Amino acid sequence: MNIHEYQAKELLAKFGVPIPQGIAALTVDEAVAAAGKLPGPLYVVKSQIHAGGRGKGKFKELAPEAKGGVRLAKSVDEVRAHATDMLGNTLVTIQTGDAGKQVNRLYVTDGVDIGKEYYLSMLVDRATGRIAIVASTEGGMDIEAVAHDTPEKIFTITVDPVAGFQPHHGRAVAKALALSGDLAKQCQTLTGQIYAAFVALDCEQIEINPLAESGGKLMVLDTKMSFDGNAMFRHPELVPLRDETEEDAMELEASKYDLAYIKLDGDIGCMVNGAGLAMATMDIIKLNGAFPANFLDVGGGASKEKVTAAFKIILADPAVKGILVNIFGGIMRCDIIAEGVVAAAREVKLAVPLVVRLEGTNVAEGKKIMAESGLPIVSADNLGDAAQKIVAEVKKAA
Ligand code: ADP
Ligand code: MG
Repeated sequence: MNIHEYQAKELLAKFGVPIPQGIAALTVDEAVAAAGKLPGPLYVVKSQIHAGGRGKGKFKELAPEAKGGVRLAKSVDEVRAHATDMLGNTLVTIQTGDAGKQVNRLYVTDGVDIGKEYYLSMLVDRATGRIAIVASTEGGMDIEAVAHDTPEKIFTITVDPVAGFQPHHGRAVAKALALSGDLAKQCQTLTGQIYAAFVALDCEQIEINPLAESGGKLMVLDTKMSFDGNAMFRHPELVPLRDETEEDAMELEASKYDLAYIKLDGDIGCMVNGAGLAMATMDIIKLNGAFPANFLDVGGGASKEKVTAAFKIILADPAVKGILVNIFGGIMRCDIIAEGVVAAAREVKLAVPLVVRLEGTNVAEGKKIMAESGLPIVSADNLGDAAQKIVAEVKKAA
């Protein structure tokens, strides 16, 4: 689960991490009022979307030469002008894709006179099974380019989860950032605080870019934070931070029915039980020269309600030109699944070809139910047959 910059900053501040003052705003008036509460005279108005690269981003609705999604303001009037430009408009950055993201919230924060920008992040490193700290002197807006062009400027330090964060980790980060004296001390403290937040909140990633030096002080100017979804039950306090407007509408709908759904680029919708079978189904569609429109695992207990919800989700995607249902009835009997598929196909008034491959308990009864339904359901005998049939049906319909 991802959260907004202002929410991440509020969380980090609780661990003692130095953050400039700032206030979130949902309207232009709120943004102006927020600026009025900050010391000024320099403010920064920041678009809050779940994507980075905002500073260099462009608004679809504004002239190409208009400024990006993070703007400096020298007066409250400028804050008003920037807020008016941003709210409700679509910001396109290197991380949003061409569709961009609508800006519904702003963060108005103290403008800082930056001496130097650094990069500091923490993430779960699956290869070592540890939390990795990544640090670079080349902070700012283009860390991807640094990683690509000058990878030697990026340092990685891993922390043994049993021993936890030790002073030497802090010293190693300060050294990687070429800091000395008091700045090195601040860096050590701050790195320990971020590590503590990472562990306490079950984070997947905390990225700080830039970590800035200003007037001899280190502070966090931008941060991205995401949590391990599997650990959310331990953090009821984090649940309200979820912003559903930032999530894919269909993935959100699927999560309500406990369906594992991920939208993909192809045109064959897949409904499968079990992640392994879903992967195999996607592979075999590709082997037959087509592409899956989604990954969808209806899980072990594929009830009629789940099957119907899954059908609706698949069909809500205009790219879908045909559906392949591939279900193994082990605990769940094939006749029950067939009834579910038939009922769902009737309810959603299916208008694209549907190929169903059932295997397992009561498979003969299941096939009979589909054959006698009067619906144009194509039955398949095995995985290879199913993939060939759906690809052929989609080509025929095109
Ligand atoms: P993004 O990474 O999405 O582009 P940032 O918050 O990193 O957004 O902002 C982009 C740049 O704007 C930063 O690299 C920094 O130079 C500048 N900036 C961000 N916040 C402040 C601030 N509070 N004061 C001064 N400059 C800032
Ligand atoms: Mg940034």
